[in-house]
Amino acid sequence: MPELPEVQTTANAIEKYSKGKKISYCNVRKNKLRWKLQADLSQRLKNKKIKSVSRRGKYIIIELNSLYLVIHLGMSGYIRISNNLTNILKHDHIDIVLESNTVLRFNDTRKFGMVFYSEDDPTQSHPLLKKIGVEPLTRNFNKKYLYEKTRNRSVSIKNFLMNGDIIAGIGNIYASEALFDAKIKPNKLSKNLTRKNCEELSSSIKKVLKLSLKKGGASISDYVNVDGNKGYFQNNFKVYGRAGKPCYTCNYIISKITLGQRSSFFCKKCQK
Ligand SMILES: [Zn+2]
Repeated sequence: MPELPEVQTTANAIEKYSKGKKISYCNVRKNKLRWKLQADLSQRLKNKKIKSVSRRGKYIIIELNSLYLVIHLGMSGYIRISNNLTNILKHDHIDIVLESNTVLRFNDTRKFGMVFYSEDDPTQSHPLLKKIGVEPLTRNFNKKYLYEKTRNRSVSIKNFLMNGDIIAGIGNIYASEALFDAKIKPNKLSKNLTRKNCEELSSSIKKVLKLSLKKGGASISDYVNVDGNKGYFQNNFKVYGRAGKPCYTCNYIISKITLGQRSSFFCKKCQK
């Protein structure tokens, strides 16, 4: 599932290729992804100019003149940018065709993605977006925030990190990698984190996210960036997907446990 670095990389690229351009038309091949698409989506987007592209949590927000287009990549979605209107792949569900025939093409095998327009700034008005927690790469996310939010929480720290209403954009990969970096086991109860744990974990989260952004995100399963290329952060995974392999730090075998129905990878020796 695309997380903060993959979504940010996608948003940056959409902005690079489409800012200032007008949408000529949309071609919807599948009118139901996670939800049924708005019936007048194509009509509303027609002739709108793309002003800016940003990210909030795992949502891409394309600001148009007097309208917002919101895209969530779901479990398996990605966007390609192409000048080829005919080379359509399986699961290419929506084309947003810009002037000069640049096309933003949304592909989503599992159809958990979302594409919708919003009249108002969705970060302030949309029920799913306005409740998103603090952005981990901002100053508002720090050891103090983490310490305060983890008090009285009996949930595992891994599941806590993946709660988008508390911290935005972190999923299984970056929660696993950050916990390894901070030497904290994923099933440790949130309320048992010490101040020192919170200091180390908040800086580990920023560190792994920034490193992944530098590498263009991680490409596992379907994710490719908008140029159709893969990101490279998967080559830097220390624990994610490495069950049974030796820990890079201590050589002990990486373990896999299930927490909140998700696989968690960690080193029993390094993470306490
Ligand atoms: Zn280890």
